[in-house]
Amino acid sequence: MRRTVVIYHEDYLNHDPGSQLKIEYSECPDRLRNTMKLLTESGLLKKRNITLLKPEPATLEDLVQIHSRDYIEQVKSMSKIGKGYVDLPRNGALKKPKSGTPVVKGTYQIAKLSAGGGIAAGKVVAEGKADNAFALIRPPGHHAGKNYGAGYCYFNNIAIMIENLRRKCQMKRFMILDWDVHHGNGTQDIFYEDPTVLSVHTHQAHHYPVYKTKGDSDEIGSGEGKGYNINVPLPPETTGEDYLYVTDQLIVPVAEAFKPDIICVSSGLDMHYTDPLGNIKFTTQTYAVITQRLIDVAERVCNGKIALLLEGGYNLEAVPRVVASIIAALAELGDAEITKYIEYKSRRLRKQISAIKKAISRTHVLGL
Ligand SMILES: [Zn+2]
Repeated sequence: MRRTVVIYHEDYLNHDPGSQLKIEYSECPDRLRNTMKLLTESGLLKKRNITLLKPEPATLEDLVQIHSRDYIEQVKSMSKIGKGYVDLPRNGALKKPKSGTPVVKGTYQIAKLSAGGGIAAGKVVAEGKADNAFALIRPPGHHAGKNYGAGYCYFNNIAIMIENLRRKCQMKRFMILDWDVHHGNGTQDIFYEDPTVLSVHTHQAHHYPVYKTKGDSDEIGSGEGKGYNINVPLPPETTGEDYLYVTDQLIVPVAEAFKPDIICVSSGLDMHYTDPLGNIKFTTQTYAVITQRLIDVAERVCNGKIALLLEGGYNLEAVPRVVASIIAALAELGDAEITKYIEYKSRRLRKQISAIKKAISRTHVLGL
């Protein structure tokens, strides 16, 4: 069994643009509220080798390693008055956007706390206090670049975590695997010229965002970073088996070749077949299996060090189950615990099975 840390702070529930602005907003507090409920009720958080940890907010110094001071100040002042938007740069410039991702009262503080959750996940793993960690954080981060936010993201949590590990934990080489259904454009922008960060982005092809970068496979990095950015655009309806092929043929071999000090995962859960914002067909089991594959390769290249940070994932019933299943896999609790969270796809067979059982029970032979 491995020692796994789960990072969570109840203040993550206070970020609620949907209710505050009375708009449809998929990135809602229930994503984490429901997840913590399942993790608690299932007894997962009581397991001997799983620890729950409350993070501190990231500091301004942490943020400026990735974001421009102007952008940070912009988010801070919008958050103070509870009004404004962040968005992708159009025509190379970022003026004051009139739509995009809304900033509401308190966004700045909770986005800093979310980045702090990522930092905490990286730190416990780097310092050997845990083998791996799952940061159950929000708002997410992978669409945010140096001077912009987008797609529910304000600060790039995984990039901030990496710079923190570089500055404070003597780590030098990082592999990012982004398995969110949307392209991690912000992360790609930030590390595009950096040969010490190998970024592997797997996402639904030309889904979101499509602007300056499209997440295409010819975007391979530039300058010294050339060859260290890998995009794998997946066609709609891609299945878990398809992704396992990508894992075995590409993700595992590049991890072995690059030999990172830690594997960092932008763990969006919106590749799930029930997700309202994507058209990919992962099941809950898919996530557990690819997590196990990552544990195996991490064991070979970086003493098992893995930190996962939550990104997207919007089906409120699926997200808790997937998180539970990933955590059970990270903590190596065994197949019975991992498969406990797999939902039944065969709801339509329920009536049939119950009728068959009834018929058998009438014979009194099997004692059903
Ligand atoms: Zn997403």
